[in-house]
Amino acid sequence: MRILKMQSKFLEVFLESLDKFGQLYGPKQKNGVLSYDRLENISELVITDEHPMIPIKKLFHPMQFTMMHFNEKGFEPDYSVIEKRVVLGVHPCEIHSLLRLDDVFLREPVDPYYAGLRENTAIIGFSCLPLENHLCISTDTDIVSEGFDLFFVNLKGFYLVWVGSSLGYDMIHEREEFFDENVTHEDIQMYVDWRKKRNKMFKKSFDFDSMPDIMDLSHDSEVWDHFGDKCLSCGQCSMVCPTCNCYNVTDVFDVTNETVGRRNRVWDSCMFVDYSLVAGGHNFRASRADRLRLWYGHKLKTFGVDYGRPGCIGCGRCVDSCPVDINVLTISEALTTEEVPKQ
Ligand code: SF4
Ligand code: SF4
Repeated sequence: MRILKMQSKFLEVFLESLDKFGQLYGPKQKNGVLSYDRLENISELVITDEHPMIPIKKLFHPMQFTMMHFNEKGFEPDYSVIEKRVVLGVHPCEIHSLLRLDDVFLREPVDPYYAGLRENTAIIGFSCLPLENHLCISTDTDIVSEGFDLFFVNLKGFYLVWVGSSLGYDMIHEREEFFDENVTHEDIQMYVDWRKKRNKMFKKSFDFDSMPDIMDLSHDSEVWDHFGDKCLSCGQCSMVCPTCNCYNVTDVFDVTNETVGRRNRVWDSCMFVDYSLVAGGHNFRASRADRLRLWYGHKLKTFGVDYGRPGCIGCGRCVDSCPVDINVLTISEALTTEEVPKQ
């Protein structure tokens, strides 16, 4: 993989020039919340250590969209959500989360909506420094070596730029006057020192590697009942977790002609009480404790068994978001110590 160097003063002009490769997207402030969204102007882009509240999955697995239109003769898929895009300012853990979603949506049978959005979207990654609840050092997702077209590491005054695809080379080629091929030993040493310094900045961690075994031993743990009693079944953890990918489909009929309609897809959560409700009225996970065990089983064990990559990428959003402090830290701590937190 090629590494180049770019002076910081060229960044904004270079990023702006990428609009010839597709509509620019990136983190921006929207209604007071940092959010991945369409950029009308490069000045809207916010390059920051903070993660947007809703992860990048929303750009590839939209919260709600129409999959197809149907009538009595058949159906017509609707691929209007797919457009050429360039997403700027993507953190390493978010790139890892897309690789996890690839494992789910690009396996046979391939999801054509996700595949279309992935194929038509360039990823421009950016380094970040850990904030209070960032845990990517524990999940080995603090650096990334695939899944991006360009990746910028900010070394103050200049960026080291990793080129990760042929599209990335095309982007560089457009403004090659901004890039210096002469990356020196000192530059690489600065990067190594930056990583060492950054690694010391993490405030929280957990022993992720031991969690699959602990999950195996914890099926009947009282920890699930303890947290199940507190859980509100609000589903917020699923909405903010970058690797949660469940959805429901609903058919919406035209009120004037009941043979015509559309099929919509909308995010779902296994934390909702009716998620495992089946015909006949049986609910496979009627209790909140059962639903929590399923959710954390996926994050801490099953996803890794099924796909070879862990289901938690350490973004810390569950720590930030759960209104009753149920998150990957409190769950792993309780399962490891076999002690439930005091109220
Ligand atoms: S674990 Fe927390 S965020 Fe998730 S459903 Fe329960 S209360 Fe809501
Ligand atoms: S389990 Fe929590 S820390 Fe891990 S990826 Fe999901 S939201 Fe982020």
